[in-house]
Amino acid sequence: MDEMIVVKKELWDRLEKVESICRKMETELCNHIQYLADASQAREKLRQEFRTFYVERFKELEKKVSIGKTPHGCPLCSGTGKNYIDPAKPLSGFESMLGQRDERGMSYLTCKPCKGEGIVWG
Ligand SMILES: [Zn+2]
Repeated sequence: MDEMIVVKKELWDRLEKVESICRKMETELCNHIQYLADASQAREKLRQEFRTFYVERFKELEKKVSIGKTPHGCPLCSGTGKNYIDPAKPLSGFESMLGQRDERGMSYLTCKPCKGEGIVWG
């Protein structure tokens, strides 16, 4: 009979140990879940901040773009779309390759900033 009591005592001790380990694991799990929830919340907050930042930045840029939509004559070619080459100077290799002649026989290069349209935006 005494032996039976000893076995029961051992079993109770083991059970208490197992329960203690379970409680410890439960606490660690809860802490980890809380950590993940906090991290998730922080990430969501950061995402919202980034979103707000980009929306504001987008609005700023959109405003700049809409302000710069006024057409005006190209200052480089005076709105002709052509940059005339001085007839007194010999043509450079580049000019002889890309240069064109207008109806008066004058050599010119198509104006780069306005792409020959004579109008720039901005
Ligand atoms: Zn031009």
